[in-house]
Amino acid sequence: MSERTQSGVVTSGTGGVWNVHLDDGSDVEASMRGRLKKSNAGRRTDGSLRRDTVEARSRTQKLAVGDRVTLEHEGGATGAWAISEIQPRGSCLKRREPGGGKGERIIAANVDQSMIMFAAANPEPHPRMLDRFLVIGEANGIALRIVINKVELVGESAARERFAAYERAGYPVHFTSVKQRIGLDGVLDAMAGRVTAISGPSGVGKSSLLNALFPGLGLRVAEISESVNKGRHTTVGAFLHPLPVPPGGAVVDTPGLREIGMWGLPRAELDNCFPEFREPRDECRFGNCAHMAEPGCAVLAAVARGVVSATRYDSYRKLREEIETEQTN
Ligand code: GDP
Ligand code: ZN
Repeated sequence: MSERTQSGVVTSGTGGVWNVHLDDGSDVEASMRGRLKKSNAGRRTDGSLRRDTVEARSRTQKLAVGDRVTLEHEGGATGAWAISEIQPRGSCLKRREPGGGKGERIIAANVDQSMIMFAAANPEPHPRMLDRFLVIGEANGIALRIVINKVELVGESAARERFAAYERAGYPVHFTSVKQRIGLDGVLDAMAGRVTAISGPSGVGKSSLLNALFPGLGLRVAEISESVNKGRHTTVGAFLHPLPVPPGGAVVDTPGLREIGMWGLPRAELDNCFPEFREPRDECRFGNCAHMAEPGCAVLAAVARGVVSATRYDSYRKLREEIETEQTN
């Protein structure tokens, strides 16, 4: 690659100026080139773009944090970097456009997994909030992992007992104490070489954990903790922090993610976002069973037998009611 062309990953920005971490390790500001590099997909034989392709491109080619890009340096000592190409994306954390539109907005691109962190105590964990984070991840088709920090406050076995339903549902759960350096190696292994979106309420120890794992990262505590994003014009901008190589990978902080409700998740897809419902669900008498009060509902039967956790099921009901309210407004 020539000196004038580089590739890198977008670390922050919301349009206009983007911060890009170049593969050579430096960080630069770059703007989006007016016209992206041409590719032949969607072109007519005369080379012009089909109208539907133009529209699809303007919808999908909005740049997002986590995107891998090619940049070109526009000459001279004062020259600036311009993003000329967005490389194909892997899994993304998306939300629907606010206001009931059909569009989607990408919060972070190329996310390998989402790590949801709560504290065993102080602040007291709210299962419903944890379930909401999990549903958002499931709806995005992203691998999920749970971290329960501050286990020294309640004892590790009590913490394990309290979150057993999540392990039974199939989620990897890490029990950690940043303070006593318990369980940190397991989290480090899980993050190695991967792009991990981290979320969870403030005060659970997200910045403390990352600083303990990656002392060189120099994360400002406020950067991760700040989730004061409650206004109407909430920005759900994400920040990507490249991790030292080896092992490499990156952490993506997604402030504002928990403020965004269920954002138009079709109600029929909610049960699929609870992995432990999938097996019983196939046994429900009605194919479109909502698992609320239907006769012959195998999910309700599994709850009654204690196979599916009553707390998880309760979250399902509440989220379903929330979706219904959202969709009739
Ligand atoms: P964040 O808002 O999720 O980034 O949380 P912080 O990293 O800012 O931590 C919030 C508070 O929890 C700080 O006072 C930390 O010192 C404290 N903390 C972090 N990890 C632990 C832990 O394992 N045990 C205890 N008791 N406190 C912790
Ligand atoms: Zn059912």
